[in-house]
Amino acid sequence: MALPSTTTKFSSVLLRTLHNTLQQRTDLEGQLRRGPLQIKAVQSMVDEAQANVDAAAETLKKTRMTADEKQLQLQTREAHVKNLQGKLNTAASNKEFSLLKDQIAADEQANSVQSDEILEVLERIDTCEIELGRAQKKLEQAQADQTKRVNEIEARLEQVRQDLARINEQLAAHEADIPAAVKADYRRLVDARGDEALAAVEQDSCGGCYQTLTTQVLNQVMLSTLTHCPNCNAFLYQA
Ligand SMILES: [Zn+2]
Repeated sequence: MALPSTTTKFSSVLLRTLHNTLQQRTDLEGQLRRGPLQIKAVQSMVDEAQANVDAAAETLKKTRMTADEKQLQLQTREAHVKNLQGKLNTAASNKEFSLLKDQIAADEQANSVQSDEILEVLERIDTCEIELGRAQKKLEQAQADQTKRVNEIEARLEQVRQDLARINEQLAAHEADIPAAVKADYRRLVDARGDEALAAVEQDSCGGCYQTLTTQVLNQVMLSTLTHCPNCNAFLYQA
């Protein structure tokens, strides 16, 4: 392979065009890479809404079970009270009668407390049902949003793919103009570093690494002579 001589020309116009095109390619490739992450983010919002629905449904189920248990306890104790009341008539003594009366009073007191608790739990069930309804609505909204957002992202990605294909064609066309003596060097650098393989001279510095350039280097660039940045090795061109 012939090494490019220090007088090989690599025009700033071509380098600038190549650099612009490579930068556009980098940008488009970045958008393509971010696409699946954006879709994932949309999906995770649906997952979160689904988790909220599941949690609300579970809370409702448990609250209903609590209500059922308390109702059953109440019924059992009510039956017990009835049983004791039946025994009042057959009480053998005043003492037994009085004991039965006390027991009935205690059970009725417990049932009164129990009834209040049941009312409270029933109110909690109402709240749980409202919350479940809200969570389900949010889930539906998230699912509708997901469909819409994913369609938008897919449409944009399709556009990006088309743009990228066009940019790659343009890049190939411009790369055909690269002097033969530089081609291998260019390919190697661009494959390794993408658009960072090229840098514009900005205020007497390399636009890639910001190293101040010597007058000799600046003159070479001015003359469109093939010049690498002495620091970062990028192809230098006049901005
Ligand atoms: Zn540099």
